Amino acid sequence: MDRLNDYHVHTFRCGHAGGASRDFVRRAIERGLVEMAFTDHVPLYFLPESQRDPRLAMREDQLDEYVAEVQDLRREFAGAIEVRLGLEADYAEGFEEELERRLARADWDLVLGSVHWVAGGWIDDPATSPPRFAAEGTDALYDEYYRLLAKAAGTGFFDVLTHFDLPKKHGHRPERPREDAENRAIEAARRAGCAVEVSSAGLRKPVKEAYPEPRLLSRIVAAGVPITFSSDAHAPAEVGWGFEKTLALAREAGATEFVTIEKRRKLARPLPPG
Ligand SMILES: [Zn+2]
Ligand SMILES: [Zn+2]
Repeated sequence: MDRLNDYHVHTFRCGHAGGASRDFVRRAIERGLVEMAFTDHVPLYFLPESQRDPRLAMREDQLDEYVAEVQDLRREFAGAIEVRLGLEADYAEGFEEELERRLARADWDLVLGSVHWVAGGWIDDPATSPPRFAAEGTDALYDEYYRLLAKAAGTGFFDVLTHFDLPKKHGHRPERPREDAENRAIEAARRAGCAVEVSSAGLRKPVKEAYPEPRLLSRIVAAGVPITFSSDAHAPAEVGWGFEKTLALAREAGATEFVTIEKRRKLARPLPPG
């Protein structure tokens, strides 16, 4: 998809992505993207060391080599595509200083803010999250998720909020949208100047719907929150995947611009014709 960016791409270090990092860049070029950002999962700083599953995020000792590899790729592909240095960082309430210490270890172009850890567990784990919706209540989990997302935006650590309506991943939805909770997260993003990613990843998940869903994306755009594009690629073939669809969704939601980010400064660009 011509002239868009993919700002959510993983590497093998997270333990659940495969392929050579260089092949992710090649794929981005083939797709005609103007920019891509590697944004691998930050080490699971908020869990006790014995519980930091290497299949979920990179290890502490991999952070520096990750940064070095992305910087090498940026130099190697200069002129063909902009390769940005990013990180997907979990927000975990109460562990802000721990996160700040990891963020201080590189000069990031952009930091993605993700809330996967909600009320003491993963909100999107295929094995453990479905029983939680039954036991803890779908409304309550959504409300808590959005409370944390709003709080994440307010920390100022993040340039982009990821998969805005992540709790729907396996098909769990409240009977009626939790609009008040959603609105608080949207307002927090607006105040903080955080962008929201339009992510094709949800189209590959059981829910079969982009993040955020159209109803929500329209409200995000109407609130003046900038958008950016992402695939959440965990394999080279997923870079830029589904962007025809997400570009159309962005247009239908009323967006006319998207942002690119360099050294944490946003630049608005017109959306390419759909
Ligand atoms: Zn991942
Ligand atoms: Zn991701």
